Amino acid sequence: MLDTIKELNGFHKHDHANGRTNGHSNGTTHPTSDKADAKAAIETAVRTILANVGEDPDREGLVGTPDRIARMYDEILAGYTTDPVKLVNNALFDVEYDDPVIVKEIEYFSMCEHHMLPFFGRAHIAYIPSDKVIGLSKIPRIVEMFARRLQVQERMTRQIAEMIDEVLQPQGVAVVVEGSHMCSMMRGVKKEHPRMMTSYMIGKYREDKDLRREFMDQLRK
Ligand SMILES: [Zn+2]
Repeated sequence: MLDTIKELNGFHKHDHANGRTNGHSNGTTHPTSDKADAKAAIETAVRTILANVGEDPDREGLVGTPDRIARMYDEILAGYTTDPVKLVNNALFDVEYDDPVIVKEIEYFSMCEHHMLPFFGRAHIAYIPSDKVIGLSKIPRIVEMFARRLQVQERMTRQIAEMIDEVLQPQGVAVVVEGSHMCSMMRGVKKEHPRMMTSYMIGKYREDKDLRREFMDQLRK
């Protein structure tokens, strides 16, 4: 089971080193194998951006920016190196309970992969156990693992649902995600900023629309 989880959510333990390249041959876009090298490469890239948007990368306010951004990426994109097996370890419990378990209002921050700008909001999760439940604190950690990557909201929603399905083998899983996207909020002239809603249902939640409605009603409370 745990191997499937790794495959399922694209866990890469430093697969900087495994030759995941993107076809460019100038050397600068290849991932580097070492963490310090990777940080230096990001800093160089940020300096390049600064110089090419009309800034002076050496002025006082910007001189530390490449370093700050590189360190920040380490944190906000930490989901690539989070080990999903460790994450759920020792947190599965046998129970006899087959009503929905609902965890609402999980705050998340992610980065849109199209613009590398934040999107953020709340995730709401329900599952109907078969014979196992997961420790309450682990559900937000699962959300965080997928949020701290370059994402699209639709894929993040599905990945969260599939991971819970894989780990717990429940009778059903429902995930609803609300997101405000900076790339649409900052650009254009419109002053209303609709939140995007995505959902992904598995098992009973896909088959049974009353169950689905019950979950949606719970979210409005
Ligand atoms: Zn975007």
